[in-house]
Amino acid sequence: MNGNGKPRVSIIGGVAGGASCATRLRRLSESAAITIFERGPYVSFANCGLPYYVGDVISDEKHLLVATPGLFRKRFNIDVRVQNEVRSIDRSKQEITIKDISTGDIYREGYDTLVLAPGASPICPPLPGVQLPGIFTLKTIPDSRQIREWITQRGVERAVIVGGGFIGLEMAENLVKRGVSVTIVEMLPQVMPALDAEMAVPLQDHLIANGVTLALGDAVSSFDEGPDGTIEVKTKSGHNYASDMVVLAIGVRPEIGLAREAGLEIGERGGIRVDEYLRTSDPHIWAVGDAVEVRDFITGSRINVPLAGPANREGRIAADNIMGREVKFRGIQSTAICQVFDMTVAATGISEKVIRRAQATGQSIPYDKVCLHPGHHVSYYPNSTPMTIKLIFATPDGRILGAQAVGGEGVDKRIDVISMAIQRNSTVFDLEQCELCYAPQFGAAKDPVNIAGMIAANALRGDAPVSHWEALDLDGSLILDVRQSGEYEAGHVPAAVNIPLGELRERLGELARDRRVFTYCSVGQRSYYATRLLRQHGIEASNISGGFRCYQAWKQTQRGPQ
Ligand code: FAD
Repeated sequence: MNGNGKPRVSIIGGVAGGASCATRLRRLSESAAITIFERGPYVSFANCGLPYYVGDVISDEKHLLVATPGLFRKRFNIDVRVQNEVRSIDRSKQEITIKDISTGDIYREGYDTLVLAPGASPICPPLPGVQLPGIFTLKTIPDSRQIREWITQRGVERAVIVGGGFIGLEMAENLVKRGVSVTIVEMLPQVMPALDAEMAVPLQDHLIANGVTLALGDAVSSFDEGPDGTIEVKTKSGHNYASDMVVLAIGVRPEIGLAREAGLEIGERGGIRVDEYLRTSDPHIWAVGDAVEVRDFITGSRINVPLAGPANREGRIAADNIMGREVKFRGIQSTAICQVFDMTVAATGISEKVIRRAQATGQSIPYDKVCLHPGHHVSYYPNSTPMTIKLIFATPDGRILGAQAVGGEGVDKRIDVISMAIQRNSTVFDLEQCELCYAPQFGAAKDPVNIAGMIAANALRGDAPVSHWEALDLDGSLILDVRQSGEYEAGHVPAAVNIPLGELRERLGELARDRRVFTYCSVGQRSYYATRLLRQHGIEASNISGGFRCYQAWKQTQRGPQ
């Protein structure tokens, strides 16, 4: 309690998780003495907007400031101390030691409740030359300001981005918008590691179409000073990319230094361990945001996912629990979205990659998947754009495990709907039946979400089983291409025989009755009709999910980095 008998809540970190926690605390208690300690010069700023400030989409830095210390004081009676870094926690005395960075003063403050919301810091690999001027990470407003100044003052023409995840891709787009020629060096054979490889293929094509050079499956080995202040980025494969600036975007690491030194429990994923109420191993200390590891909503295992939504929700829930309400954090679904030029990519739940990793550790997750390529609204209404949706579901019950989508407009709403379905433990049978708003501009009477559910439900019921390219013996199987002959001639799976759908009834005799027929068309719709037709004529048939379009993406993943 402070001198006035008010409970003292100290919060370390004043952006997403910390600021949400502070303001929710105030809404629940007028009497608490709430203090935010923030190391940087700003609180509650829009770190998600930083790439767009670099790209000049957001041109005024002030627009990145969601709230100021003055607003916190006036509106919420919260004491915000920027440029005040918490240096240590003395749990036995319930005290923290703080350094006022502007004056150099060190002082101590007592707390009744402490909230850790220190976030995560960008990973800076210990490579030779990594400290050279012109090599940046992006986390704060001053970081983005420095990058902007460097671009202008140096007349940057070429940039290398190390890492092809969310921040790397957003930076690529924004640098291209500023006229910079961009190369992305990514250690994995694909961009956007959260996606399954075949779902990243359209994104990679789109980046290349927008002038970005991709160096996939290659890792940076060193940075050397080149002529005239340029930076030579050398890679393990022996490539050398000359550039005027470098952005390191290879991920973030939870800031756990304070917690570890204070003896708080750290989890197996390297984040601060919290229970479902977001309480740490010390009953007086709570932790939220990028620094913590929480339960994966689907697998139940511990994960650390640096996303703004969970950080904000956790801040709010921690405040509820601090004030005596018992609210459980349900876990993280990893729902995320990113726009890259005109393409949107989004995902929720777990990917096949995550399932395979879990299976490698002995966890059993029986699953199947479907892939479809619907328009974002009906094709007869102008400007319908295609998207690719991959839906992953448990077998045999059909519980939805995850979804990924890539396309243009409407990707966000499909993934959001499926995200909510996952949170309610819904099944593909629920997606079949879900009622979504429809007019021609917005979707279809059978929305892509319904269609995804219908394809999966048809498979689970055995009406139209699905097969997958990577699981097929492409030489030994009877593969039936039901597209028109012109489409077949323009490109087909080598061993496939062609009987267009419209001729199939009359030509059934050409198919051996003792062999399973694997049907495909362009996207999977005509082959679904063919599968139903064949099965009703007593021929074992299944539909190869996603059709020729998925075949091409899958083949591209097989060829490896170009
Ligand atoms: P932060 O918001 O990082 O806040 C932690 C604060 O704690 C920092 O300001 C830090 O200075 C302060 N701090 C740390 N240690 C101390 C200390 N000892 N004393 C005092 N203060 C301390 N997420 C999305 O969901 N969507 C996006 O589009 C998106 N885009 C992003 C773009 C960029 C460039 C970045 C960097 C992140 C982006 N994120 C995005 C991630 C999102 O910003 C984070 O997940 C979220 O901010 C985490 O909130 P947090 O409160 O845990 O940490």
